[in-house]
Amino acid sequence: MANLRLMVILVTVLIYLLPSCIKSLEIILPKSLNLTLLNDTSTISAASQDFGNITTVKPGGVLCPSSPAEISRLLSYAANGERKFQVAARGQGHSLKGQASVLDGVIINMTCLSGVVVSDDMKYADVAGGALWVDVLKKTAEKGASPVSWTDYLHVSVGGTLSNAGIGGEVFRNGPQISNVLELDVITGKGEMLTCSPQLNSELFDGVLGGLGQFGIITRARIVLNHAPKRAKWIRMLYSDFTAFTKDQERLISMANDTGVDYLEGQLFMSNGVVDTSFFPPADQSKVADLVKSHGIIYVLQVAKYYDDATLPIINQVIDKLTKTLSYLPGFISMHDVTYFDFLNRVKAEEDKLRSLGLWDVPHPWLNLFVPKSQILDFHQGVVKDILLKQNSTSGLTLLYPTNRNKWDNRMSAMITDEEDVVYVIGLLQSATPQNVPEVESVNEKIIRVCKDSGIKIKQYLMHYTRKEDWVEHFGTKWSDFSRRKDLFDPKKLLSPGQDIF
Ligand code: FAD
Repeated sequence: MANLRLMVILVTVLIYLLPSCIKSLEIILPKSLNLTLLNDTSTISAASQDFGNITTVKPGGVLCPSSPAEISRLLSYAANGERKFQVAARGQGHSLKGQASVLDGVIINMTCLSGVVVSDDMKYADVAGGALWVDVLKKTAEKGASPVSWTDYLHVSVGGTLSNAGIGGEVFRNGPQISNVLELDVITGKGEMLTCSPQLNSELFDGVLGGLGQFGIITRARIVLNHAPKRAKWIRMLYSDFTAFTKDQERLISMANDTGVDYLEGQLFMSNGVVDTSFFPPADQSKVADLVKSHGIIYVLQVAKYYDDATLPIINQVIDKLTKTLSYLPGFISMHDVTYFDFLNRVKAEEDKLRSLGLWDVPHPWLNLFVPKSQILDFHQGVVKDILLKQNSTSGLTLLYPTNRNKWDNRMSAMITDEEDVVYVIGLLQSATPQNVPEVESVNEKIIRVCKDSGIKIKQYLMHYTRKEDWVEHFGTKWSDFSRRKDLFDPKKLLSPGQDIF
């Protein structure tokens, strides 16, 4: 009798649960919302993947909004009463581990909202959250203006990079992209459409910049513009001595605008990896390859100096003066003279090359770190030499360059190590095969462990933690503001659940 009763209870529970399990994959919106969700196989399959190619997370539907008001209606409905589904804005899906994903919820395809409007005085551009930076560059450069801070790769969305920080070789001079925003239109997790700036709704403004999509969806950003130069002298110099390399990098980022460089990064050529010598003239390429073989590691200083008609007569003198003071290996310098657009869009050529070889859509177990200047020598020994160089092989790119922390605004959500004025950006941008992802990830974990054990105060960038305590540690003293802002702007915790924070 007791068994029979148990059976009846079980069957009843199943009858109630089963349809809701099935339903959770299909989101049915009331007609009154007047919104269409796409859920055909190819849309869902594309929205389930990202650049990292490590996770697959299926959404229930994808909204291609025709206006910010549609996003607001969707979020108001989702937030109303019981949490019905979660929502993630997706720019280009260039995240590494499902940060722009939402299981069974709604992806908002932000690229449906694009558009760039340059102000009459050319001091700023109003840019849609889904616009690609390459399109911002095209539109502003047409008018002789340009944003001042760039990521290495421009085929990423404005909303996506502003949700992280947006860093690259101009940060030392102009700050990250989040430091060059005057105003935002944001739709909060409650569906409210708010304009915010340092003066208006500043709590939301600071929260959203570097806020990993947690507080609202950026539908418009007002981006600072400056005069667009016409061309760039793009230079690479090789070093065999790490101390000389970092000394020169640090001196260059401390120089004033007119005497110094406009862009600075650095890269490592390692004998156990692919060494791309193509920047050097064909006659020198084998010498560069031999240099890497004999030294194990060669450090590549990459700088650019922008110029246009007014500065054309003196640009070569300026470059000579600059390079004369640097301690690169004599003879190992190569310079290209390119348009400003081609310089900024340089990674697209790499993408096209990798795509043609079938090497773009592969797993990317990347690790991005900030390391304080005083610990970069320890990092070099403990990580670069003792871990990376000892791998049988590495595949991908290793970036290493310093930047100035005073160009960051500590009120914003983005985190950078707050130890010192000069902080190194490290990008271990590995490509993998589906089979060796665990191996590369375990090397990444080892690097983090070694840094922690030896007291190197790293901060991760574009990270993905799954444990709450890691997020609390990541945000440190900013955690209480971060979680308070979540309660304020997205109390139902609807937004960007793929970040795995709340
Ligand atoms: P997505 O992956 O679509 O989204 C990222 C996060 O932001 C998600 O949580 C998403 O929900 C949220 N989000 C997206 N749009 C919005 C919005 N409008 N409002 C609110 N939240 C939103 N980064 C650098 O800083 N510097 C670099 O030099 C750099 N180089 C890169 C090179 C390559 C080849 C690649 C693939 C990436 C690079 N990145 C770099 C990383 C890049 O900035 C981030 O991956 C960024 O998130 C990509 O933008 P996305 O449009 O693809 O964002």
